[in-house]
Amino acid sequence: MSGIFLHNSRTRRRELFTPIDPAHVRLYVCGPTVYDRAHIGNARTFLIFDVLARLLRHDFPRLTYVRNITDVDDKINARATERGVPIEAVTAETAQFFAEDMASLGILPPDIEPRATAHVPDMLRMIETLIDLGHAYAAEGHVLFSVPSFAAYGALSGRDPDALRAGARVEVAPYKRDPGDFVLWKPSPPDLPGWDSPWGRGRPGWHIECSAMAERYLGHDFDLHGGGQDLIFPHHENECAQSLCAHPGSGFAHTWLHTGMLRVNGEKMSKSLGNILTVPAILARAAPETARLTLLQTHYRAELDFTDAGLAESKRALDRFYRAMANAPATEGAVPAAFLAALRDDLNTPAAIACLHGLADAALGGDVAAAGGLRAAGALLGVLGQTPAQWFQAGVDGGTVEAAIAERAAAKRLRDFARADAIRADLLARGIVLEDTPTGTIWRLA
Ligand code: AMP
Ligand code: ZN
Repeated sequence: MSGIFLHNSRTRRRELFTPIDPAHVRLYVCGPTVYDRAHIGNARTFLIFDVLARLLRHDFPRLTYVRNITDVDDKINARATERGVPIEAVTAETAQFFAEDMASLGILPPDIEPRATAHVPDMLRMIETLIDLGHAYAAEGHVLFSVPSFAAYGALSGRDPDALRAGARVEVAPYKRDPGDFVLWKPSPPDLPGWDSPWGRGRPGWHIECSAMAERYLGHDFDLHGGGQDLIFPHHENECAQSLCAHPGSGFAHTWLHTGMLRVNGEKMSKSLGNILTVPAILARAAPETARLTLLQTHYRAELDFTDAGLAESKRALDRFYRAMANAPATEGAVPAAFLAALRDDLNTPAAIACLHGLADAALGGDVAAAGGLRAAGALLGVLGQTPAQWFQAGVDGGTVEAAIAERAAAKRLRDFARADAIRADLLARGIVLEDTPTGTIWRLA
């Protein structure tokens, strides 16, 4: 097997991915903060890691994929107050929507989906270790990470801590020794979620949860850590600081992967622009496979512009792939080497999709092996898992079928039987069977 090359954000280089234990690859991805329904940008990020997980499972005997749920956060508290419902109602409902949305896009669940609120003791232990080792300090019910205590701070994001400090706002909280210091623990009033701690009742800062959950499920050193580019700073920088300082000599995540942001029609998604697209909103307009292919047409590190034209292009591509599979029905084949090479080249999904087009060309020319390869390759992207009949039936529009039947009848009247047969064959490829009866032609789904 040739290796997987990945662009490692930590080294800013394309590297041959070398698992710490080739018998067991370990991946951590920052999951959703469950205060609002996921949008198509979140879906892009989780879809990319779904494809990575599929590739890793193809290439290695075992993968443990951890993707957390952030269910303690100030945005969640604010949303509960706004809606006048308990915090648990917001987190339970949003986590349920998230699971449904991911499933509806064919994004496979991770192996472990830990919740932050179930890991507060792990976080407290880590915070105490950081204090013991001189990397954190308690002040006024808070515990802060001491940024100047960690010389490598800024290495992941490429930021200079002095510049960060200079840029910090003037009104720095009085309990901070250094403007760059960040919160590991903070006091929590009785009406907000809180846990007993050596520093009084409080709740964790955002970053400590991922360090604690990654340690619990994947250990001090693991292979891959991912998230959207917006998480590099401060979230991932702070995760590195916490984990590397709590476990001196360890390396935390060896490879860091970051996905580009998704925009809609060239604009950033935002409440004020009213252009936030949820997963159900997309799936009202496009089949799940069409949405997936659209999100994979752009390389994961590039910004993706989500448009109706992009959806239409993916729909045409999938119609073509399924027509090719109907043309050369084949049993399961092996994943073609060129397709695998594209995915192993830093998850080059646009090149992988180009390979699918090449396979479709061959299958449309009657190459049965190419049709089998198309199906097997599609499985790594989570598309082409249906039969051609199922795919086309889902998009069957009775009016179009009736129009085709009328056109076929006209062709027959003109004794253009080749044309009539071609129309029947085309409908059959889309899963529609015609029956000529004494009273006219009727159609049904195959
Ligand atoms: P959140 O629930 O806001 O923590 O986001 C969950 C994941 O989605 C994180 O990995 C974010 O980096 C990612 N994400 C947020 N917005 C976008 C976007 N517009 N495009 C791509 N990924 C995003
Ligand atoms: Zn995280």
